[in-house]
Amino acid sequence: MEKKEPSFLELLLEAHIGLERQGPGSADALRQALSFLGPPDRFQQIADLGCGSGGQTLLLAEHLPGKIFGLDMFPVFIDKLNRQAKSRGLENRVEGVVGKMEALPFAQNSLDLIWSEGAIDNIGFREGLSHWRGFLKQGGCLAVSCPSWFTKEHPAVVEQFWAEAGSRLDTVGKNIEIMQDCGFAFIAAFALPEECWTENYFFPRERAIEKLLEKYHSGESVKAYAALNRQELDLYLRYKQHYGYVFYLGKAI
Ligand code: SAH
Repeated sequence: MEKKEPSFLELLLEAHIGLERQGPGSADALRQALSFLGPPDRFQQIADLGCGSGGQTLLLAEHLPGKIFGLDMFPVFIDKLNRQAKSRGLENRVEGVVGKMEALPFAQNSLDLIWSEGAIDNIGFREGLSHWRGFLKQGGCLAVSCPSWFTKEHPAVVEQFWAEAGSRLDTVGKNIEIMQDCGFAFIAAFALPEECWTENYFFPRERAIEKLLEKYHSGESVKAYAALNRQELDLYLRYKQHYGYVFYLGKAI
């Protein structure tokens, strides 16, 4: 029997490590984003930032012939990525690196493509893009997904939820402006289908949380963690016409 009360961070890692992805997205959305960026052999040096355990990193490796660095702050995710890369014989092309998105360990002007799904809002869209721009070669590309407002009306409960999570949403128009402010030409932006958030992320996460509730006998911290996650899903289902994930594609100028 598990006695110790796990922390939120332990629960977050435990709930997510077994999932195929740690955020909204899909193989189709990845392919669609890539389709805007031109011939794949242009991209020799690629970084996938906030890669989690690397579901999309390994998918990218199926589509792009270059070297891909997956970067995440949690060693447990990076270990899983490196193990999976090895088991697919991709260890020479896919390399997981423990690091921070706000202090990238790459050389300036060295990357042809920066990819990032569902992670940039942890450091802020503007802060992320202005830091990342310097690591791209001129003409290099950016593909980043993050939650965004679709409408002018921004329900206060949603704003409050994201603020308490240390994050915020901007409109699609505002994010495109931020890309341009940070030295990118706009290529495209598209909203991810709803299932990218529900079926591909929230539902598998909910199943993992149910197992944690059982394992930790519905202790206080696991109950609070489950409630927070369920609130996120409930808000999304109630207000999804107002917000969702958007992929932004740009070119470094
Ligand atoms: N791209 C993955 C994971 C998205 S979840 C997917 O779509 O499945 C967001 C990821 O960002 C998490 O794995 C988290 O560990 C990572 N992360 C959050 N803040 C970070 C930071 N400051 N530096 C590096 N990684 C960070």
